[in-house]
Amino acid sequence: MRIIEYEGLRLFSEAGIPTPRFSVVDEPERAVEAAKHIGLPVVLKAQVLVGGRGKAGGVRLVETIEDVRSVASRLLGSEIRGEKVRKLIVAEAVKHSKELYLSIIVDRASNRHLILSSMMGGVDVEELLKNHPEALIKVPIDPLTGLREWHTRKLAAHLNLSTNTSIQLQDIVRKLYNIYTQYCCDLAEINPLALTENEKFVALDAKIIVDDNAVRIKGFRFAEETGAESEAERLGLNYVELDGDIGVVCNGAGLTMATMDLIHTLGGRPGCFLDLGGGASSERVFTALKFLLNRPHIKLVFLNVLGGITRCDEVAEGIVRAFDEFGGSKKMVVRLVGTREEEGKRILESRNIEYYTRMLEAAEAAVKQAAKPI
Ligand code: GDP
Ligand code: MN
Repeated sequence: MRIIEYEGLRLFSEAGIPTPRFSVVDEPERAVEAAKHIGLPVVLKAQVLVGGRGKAGGVRLVETIEDVRSVASRLLGSEIRGEKVRKLIVAEAVKHSKELYLSIIVDRASNRHLILSSMMGGVDVEELLKNHPEALIKVPIDPLTGLREWHTRKLAAHLNLSTNTSIQLQDIVRKLYNIYTQYCCDLAEINPLALTENEKFVALDAKIIVDDNAVRIKGFRFAEETGAESEAERLGLNYVELDGDIGVVCNGAGLTMATMDLIHTLGGRPGCFLDLGGGASSERVFTALKFLLNRPHIKLVFLNVLGGITRCDEVAEGIVRAFDEFGGSKKMVVRLVGTREEEGKRILESRNIEYYTRMLEAAEAAVKQAAKPI
């Protein structure tokens, strides 16, 4: 899970890594107030999770209050690489003379953590690797023994820093490493790490990716998790939101993935991954369907169940309940086979709910119906 920039900057700030002063706003007038409070010039930064935000115009240096208002109005509600901008950061524009790159990643090839740094920050790290691979310094860390002083010293020495800046950088690396381990990160990146004219480091950007399993196991909570996914988690559903319009609900992650693949192959667009898990009760089926039928981007729900420990009659009862409460609001295509299949089908027939036995036929029907205008 990637964490939104402002929350990453807050984590930095709590850990003692210097950041610019900033406010998070969701209206142009709030941006104006924040800019007056912080003092001009300011940097307006769209809070989106897609990469390449700066290049796409999502980071703007602004000198006057009028420009704060107009740039904020333009950014808020716009889309950056398909992601809607709902919030902005208004940040103190930090004057700086150098931009460094600093990150810590999991290096699966060597089973190590890897600190990466370069005096050529600011640009994409991919670009850096392509054009100046020699400019990137790598220090591997054995996860069993962790970060030691010689790691940070080695890094600072390679970067040719002065004593003063070397001490500061080593301190920032230690603090970043603490965040990285505390939150089970796959990546903790500062790019750029600005060096001001009076030789102070300031983290201007925060990119943090937390291991998804750690988010579940440790129960981490972050701002801007897509609302739907957190809600689904509270309901105990395994749900991943996607940008298509067919809500895929199955029992078992394998079947769900296979169903999504099939929908895609047939030209449809899955709007989610929703796995009911094994042995779903009618209550659980109902909860899942209710949740999905309320998702605005879902046009049609495709329920594909292969009953093993899951009983088709339980599933059918859940479907009927959802149908009774929300029937007609959205289309539903059902495929039901396996344990207590006949009982399940009788329950569906009693309400004239159409069902399929063959997965391919059902998927074809789902894709065809989703393609029709509502
Ligand atoms: P990204 O494109 O999403 O990585 O956005 P960044 O936050 O890294 O910003 C892109 C570029 O904008 C940086 O490399 C900086 O050159 C510039 N920038 C970002 N924040 C500030 C700031 O506070 N002050 C100044 N002067 N420049 C900034
Ligand atoms: Mn950046």
